[in-house]
This record gives sequence, structure tokens and C-alpha cells, in this order.
Amino acid sequence: MPAARVVNVAVPLPVQTAFSYSVPPGWLEPERGVRVLVPFGSRRVVGMVTGRAEAAEQRSLKELIEILDEASLVTPPLLDLAAWTSDHYLAPPGECYRLVLPPAGIRASRAVARATAATTLASDDPVLAALRDGPLRVSTLARRLGRDPTARLARLRREGRVVVEQELKAAGFRHVRVASLATIAAPRGVAQAELLERLRRAGGRMRVPELVRDRPSLRAALDRLVEQGAVRLEEERSVRSPARLEGGAAERMLPSPDQTRVLEPLLAAVSARAFSAFLLHGITGSGKTEVYFQVAERALAQGRGVLLLVPEIALTPLLVRAAAARFGEAVSVLHSELSAGERHDQWWRIREAEARVVIGARSAVYAPLPDLGLLVVDEEHEAAYKQEESPRYHARDVALVRGRLEGATVVLGSATPSLESHANALKGKYTRLVLSARIGPRGLPRVEIVDRRAALKSGADPVLTPALREALATRLERGEQALLLLNRRGYATSLLCRECGLQAVCPNCSVSLTLHRGGRVALCHYCGHETRAPAACAACRGEYLRLTGYGTERVVEALEAALPRARVARLDRDLASRRGEVARTLAAFERGELDVLVGTQMIAKGHDFPRVTLVGVVDADVGLGLPDFRAAERTFQLLTQVAGRAGRAELAGEVILQSHLPDHYALLLACAQDYEAFYAHEMEFRATMGYPPALALVNLVLRSRDADQAARAAAALARTLRESSAGRYRVLGPASAPLARLRQEHRVQILLKGQRPAMRSALRNALLARFGEVRWPGIAVDVDPVSIM
Ligand code: ADP
Ligand code: ZN
Repeated sequence: MPAARVVNVAVPLPVQTAFSYSVPPGWLEPERGVRVLVPFGSRRVVGMVTGRAEAAEQRSLKELIEILDEASLVTPPLLDLAAWTSDHYLAPPGECYRLVLPPAGIRASRAVARATAATTLASDDPVLAALRDGPLRVSTLARRLGRDPTARLARLRREGRVVVEQELKAAGFRHVRVASLATIAAPRGVAQAELLERLRRAGGRMRVPELVRDRPSLRAALDRLVEQGAVRLEEERSVRSPARLEGGAAERMLPSPDQTRVLEPLLAAVSARAFSAFLLHGITGSGKTEVYFQVAERALAQGRGVLLLVPEIALTPLLVRAAAARFGEAVSVLHSELSAGERHDQWWRIREAEARVVIGARSAVYAPLPDLGLLVVDEEHEAAYKQEESPRYHARDVALVRGRLEGATVVLGSATPSLESHANALKGKYTRLVLSARIGPRGLPRVEIVDRRAALKSGADPVLTPALREALATRLERGEQALLLLNRRGYATSLLCRECGLQAVCPNCSVSLTLHRGGRVALCHYCGHETRAPAACAACRGEYLRLTGYGTERVVEALEAALPRARVARLDRDLASRRGEVARTLAAFERGELDVLVGTQMIAKGHDFPRVTLVGVVDADVGLGLPDFRAAERTFQLLTQVAGRAGRAELAGEVILQSHLPDHYALLLACAQDYEAFYAHEMEFRATMGYPPALALVNLVLRSRDADQAARAAAALARTLRESSAGRYRVLGPASAPLARLRQEHRVQILLKGQRPAMRSALRNALLARFGEVRWPGIAVDVDPVSIM
């Protein structure tokens, strides 16, 4: 007897391992990356083969139900990348493989059974009888038969009498079948006559799904006509066209001497066709985009693909337009507003190497580009590259791993590199390239810090100090534009009872409610809980409530009061929740239909508005008070970025920062645009405190509706982790998480600091020992967290 063949399958569920299944006798063994339908508990799920299992492990294994792909849809480097993601972030393998499969592919288990042409219509087999009138979903079949048809289907399939396939759309099939009239034929029966008539009316050619959509029973008649040669079937590629991209200037620019200097090693690296990593540290306006594009051209000339990652597509319309103009049809933009169908089409365009330049946000790092030659991570320091739900990957780090696997060049670009990347560059892990001057005659803008404490003492408006108001008025007179940053959306930050001093808090979370829409609506920024603003204090029923703190809405109000003629708009997450609204607002501002744009960090990103000569930061201290070790770094980055928006063209720029902490190093060094000094200062703090990049971090959050239960579980886990640390890492906590309660669950936190491999393996062992491999309930593991709140 030949040895039983066993494969491991990752299933799309939050389980920590792949599971073994045996390959039925007589079947070809599916290769790694092939999707298969497998029984899992009482369900059937579509999983992916991760490799061959040791035959010795074979007990009474369940069999594969169906092999769904002839060959793997996913290239080997991407399969390795998914495996790395699962291993590095301790994330369920099925969730990680889903990142590299066609959208919605692995989740679907809509198998459709179809009787083959040779099947005898007279069969009394109930399954065949049910399929006589056309294909049925396996689930429908089960309902009709009143029992699970799986075993019977497997047998019929082996006998060649039934085909089970994934339903077209759900499975990510790239072709649509098209029927066309071949010869004139005399129809036999009503169904055939109906079909021929439909085809004739459609001009002789029609897509099969549309042809038979309202009457699936026509499907069998179609097969008959095909057999008779009256109708021909062919496969047509269907691509729903994504939103048309307008082009800007498509020409390549003559590189400046600075650009030439950094291009040299980059082009050489791409030509070498081997892995190499670069950190391109270029101040805002130094022409990084043109560098990316020229390197991309080299990769394309070598027949290799290009991946360009941006923090958020909607906030980088310029880059997207420029890329579309430059690379034309070869571009695929993976936008979060794509419909499921468009997303699916783009996946296939990329997979089939029709699109060779892919632009997208973090998940695009898993785009199925075959033979990738260049990965660019623009604004590599952005927190948006970190996925805050499982799998909690960091797209910049994944890009580096992918670059290694593909033998590609990786370019991390930023005006304010993350401490991690700069440290890696100093260690020689990346080659550091610097663009230190802006393109054109303009230098950096003049930056001034306004001490708000002094302004408040003299009774001035807390939102717009006199200095900022005057600067705005001057811009209006000159017909120039201004950006006003406040990294806090809403109208007021909290509602305070004047009688008992209590704040209105979210019933589900341990945070205060934010007031929106002029103070009429109370909203929780964490769970989305929304109510009318309370009229009385929940504790003492006092009716004297006071709004404290302020957000972007309030800034707009203050502006309208101070400068009634100004045309003002707001850009923040509240606006972004309305489809297309961000693009519309940015376009209106670009066309000069607005004078002032008020917004959160969304306005600080890669926009290039030539008429902006003033950037005001309403409250530069917003991020500094957060209980997060990156607070200073984030503030420095945000202020440097937003300051870079002033005076980009012929007009000189000015920046005004309003602050209560005018002596804070993050503010002073952002004003001076002194990255090196900030790096040195901040690294000292990180080393002293044992934070990244000095040490690696793993953040564990245990949550439960029952506070005691979360605390007990955390205490036990922390004990186990301490016992196995052997000095390779430290265990902090358990302690209440900074967000102690979220969505009605209590949250307890454990922080590990030390050597990453040791922490990962200790943690994996501890969790496996305690919970087994099937589910880790109520535990969020965050390896290399960006935020520990
Ligand atoms: P960064 O991304 O580094 O902030 P950009 O790529 O936006 O900078 O470039 C700033 C401006 O300089 C853009 O308007 C761009 O078109 C222009 N620019 C870049 N390179 C050149 C060049 N070689 N010649 C002329 N203009 C350039
Ligand atoms: Zn809440």
C-alpha cells in the first residue's frame, strides 16, 4: 500500500496552526498555495495548502473535499511572506494567507456542483437528479436533499460524473464565459428556443451569467446547444475599469544635481537584481517623488514590477495622478473605495502582469506582482503602515522582508524618518541617502512659536491668538492661502458638570465623550457610541454643563467669527466618512476656491499647494500629553511635515505654532527642522527607558467583560513569561491598559521588552500551553507595536 499523502491546510479562522488533511486516493497532490475545500468541525471552509505534512502524523485524518485551483495562484515569495507574517507577528496562519489570495477568495465556500455532460439523465441518484436542471450551490443541494451531500459528491466527482467548482465571483475567477451563435440550428424544446432568441436579440453574443441569470435551468439547454455546435463558448477577460485617472505632467524631469547623486546608487542597486535597502531622507519639497519614478523606470525597463506604498491613497492624490500620467496603463491603484468587483479585477490585472506599477496603502504590500524589482515606502515613518487588528503587521517591515524574498530594491522615503529606520541606517543595515535642499529657489519657511499662556492671560481668544489672526488676515488681503492644523476633531473635547466636576463618559469605554456638530451630539471616538449631548449631569443631575477643550469644528467657528470674509473648509475623519468628500475638498482648495483649510493631521501629508504661505498650528501640544512612548516623535514628525506645507512655490512661507509648552524639545527642534538633534535627544530617552529602537517590544492586551477574569488570566500569563525569561527580556505588568475599558470590556496589559526572538518564542509557548492552538480568546498580541495605548 502506498504511503498516505497528507497536506497541511491553513483555514481562514483565528486558529494558530494549519491542520492536516489526507489527499483522497487517485487525486493529484495539491501543491503549496492551492486552495482546497475542507471539512472543519461541522462546517466546510476554503483553506490553503501550506505544504506537505509528515505522513507519520497521520491518524484518522479527514479528507480534502475538493481541490479548487489547478496550480497555486500565489507566487512562492508571497507564500513565504505570508508564512513570515504569521510567524513574526504570532498571527493565525489562515488570516495571513488571506492577505496574498484574491480578495474574498479564501473566505468563500460557495462551491457549486454541476453534473457533467456525460451524466445519464435517467440516473436515480438523488444528487444527480437534483443537478439535472443545472448547477446548484452545494449548500442549496444539502437543503434540497435534507442531508450533507459531501461524501456522495466526492464519490461522484471521482467517478467523473460531477464537477464541483467555486462559484465564479466568490472564488476570484478571472474569466467570464461568453456564448456566441455558431451555426444556424433548429432548437429542440422551449428552453433551447428561448436561449437562441436571447442570443439573437443581444447581437449574437452574450455573457453566460447574464444569459442564464434569471433562469438557471437554461444552463443545461446551453450545454446541449454547445454539444450540437450551435453555440460556441469562449472565455472573456472582464475588467471593471477603476475610476479614470487624470494625468498631470507626464514627462520625466531633468534631475537636479542632488537627485542625480542619490539616483546613482539606487539605479545601480535595481540593475544588480539583488536585495538592497535604502533610507532616502529628503526634506519636504526636495523632489523624492521624481527619484522614485526614475528608479521605477529602471525596474520596469528590466521587466520587473514596482510597488509604491503610501500611507493613505485619498491623501496623496498628487502622487497617484503623477504616477498615472507617467506610467499610464501599467498603473494599478488599490484604493480603499474600490468596489469588491473592482478590487478583484485589479488583483488579476496585477497577478497577470498587466499592471506593473502598483500604488496602494499598507495592504498593497501583499499585492500579487510577479517578479517585483522595486518597493518604495513613501513617508515610511507613518503610523498608518501598522495594521491595528490581527494580523498586526507593519507594512514597512513587511516590505523589507518581501524585498529580500524577491531580490528587490527597497527604498524607504521620509522627511522625518522613524527612529527605527534611522538607527538601521546608522548601523549600516540600509544605505542612507540624503536630499537636504528644496527644489527651486525657496528655502524652508520661517517658524515662530506663540506662547499661548501669555495670550490667555491677556484674555485673548484661546483658539486664535492675535499673532495667528493677523497672519491669517494678511493672507486674505494678499489672496494667498493658509492651512490650520489641530489634531483633534469635533467641537469640544468633553462636557463637564460645573456642580460635581464629573465629565460625561462613554457607557462602553473609559474615555470622555467628544462633542460634535456644534456641541449637539456626543460621540465616543473609540467605539462610535453616539447620543444627543446630555442636558444634565449623569451623576448629580446638575444642569450647568460646560464644554471644555476644542476640536476642528470649533476652529472653523472661531475663524468665521474673526474673519467673516474667509472661505473656510474642514478636513478630518468626520468628513472622510463621506465618500469622495476628501478629494472634493482638496480639489476645491487646490483650485483656490477656499482660503483656509482647517484640519487634523490629514492636511499635513503630501499635498503640494503652491499658494499656501501660512501654516498655523492651533495647539502644537495635542499629542505630547498622550501616555505613549512615541508622543514626542509623533509631534516632531507632524510639526515638521505640516511646516513643510508652507511656501512651496514662488511665495515665501511662514509657520506659527501655538503652544503651552514652548520649550519642549520636540517643538523647538521641529521649528529648527533639526532632525539629527531630535534623533540624538530622543534616542537617549528610548535607551534609558528601554523602548524601541533600543529594545524590541511586545504588547499584550487581555480583555474580558469580567474585570477579575482578565486580571487573573494576565497574572498567570505574566508569571509564566517571567519564569521563562532567563534575562533575555523583561516583563512589565500586568497593569490596567491606558484605555482600561473599551467596548464594555476591561483591558489588562503586559509589556515585554528585550530580545524579539526570545520574547516571541516564550510567548508562543506560554499561549500554546495555556490555550492550545485552536483559539486564543480575548488576547491581542502586538509584536513591534506602534502604539501601546
Ligand atoms: P517631496 O516628495 O520630497 O516633498 P516633491 O517630490 O513633491 O518633494 O517635489 C517638490 C516639487 O519639486 C514638485 O513640485 C516637483 O514637481 C518639483 N521637482 C522635483 N524634481 C524636480 C526636477 N528635477 N526639476 C524640476 N522640478 C522638480
Ligand atoms: Zn466608547
